[in-house]
Amino acid sequence: MLAGISPLTLRHVFITHQHSDHNADFGSLILLAWASGLRTRVDLWGPPPLERMTQLFFEMNAYDINTRIADEGRAPLRPLVNAHDLTEAGLVMQDENVKVTAALVAHPPVAPAFAFRFDGQDRSIVISGDTARSDALLKLAAGADVLVHEAVFAPALDRLVASVPNASTLKKHLVDSHTVVEDCARVAQAAGVKTLVLSHLIPADDPAVTEQMWLDAARAHFNGRIILGKDLLEI
Ligand SMILES: [Zn+2]
Repeated sequence: MLAGISPLTLRHVFITHQHSDHNADFGSLILLAWASGLRTRVDLWGPPPLERMTQLFFEMNAYDINTRIADEGRAPLRPLVNAHDLTEAGLVMQDENVKVTAALVAHPPVAPAFAFRFDGQDRSIVISGDTARSDALLKLAAGADVLVHEAVFAPALDRLVASVPNASTLKKHLVDSHTVVEDCARVAQAAGVKTLVLSHLIPADDPAVTEQMWLDAARAHFNGRIILGKDLLEI
């Protein structure tokens, strides 16, 4: 679980926007961490209705939670978890390890949608979340060591949507609400980041779109290091 990180060390969870491929299992993460022995505070940060979703998750799982408290002697889970609805850009939280800042990005019709910047002791990392090309993200990423940016390979979109009945509306969403890889690179260049990580790739599994094609498309517009994101990748 959590790519080799102990669930017992879970402290903060950041959700960029309320799309299921970005928020599914946030509750299960906490529930399973608690079932594994978590006894310390966890803060959740993300757009509304995160607070209500958290409350409903606890209601949905009340049977299991109450059983484990009574039967296994676990500390109550609910008091450990603090959900925070985020509605504005700016400082999210800061402690001795990290400062987290949010920018509002454009991911219609989902709003608010955030990008997050993590300024740690050794480096700064910016996560775009899902966004159309964003000046707010560019500003947030200024001078960062790493920008993890969602990316679309536009020439492959027609092939991607060809097999679904909602092709035209899906393609419109992908074009209006996401960023083509060339623009990811332009944003990275303008922001002056050292490393661009292409992530949340659309399409993710088209064998006709090779790793080299992604990298070449970005390279034309960005002078820094470019990495194609993969599951469990560490940099
Ligand atoms: Zn999304």
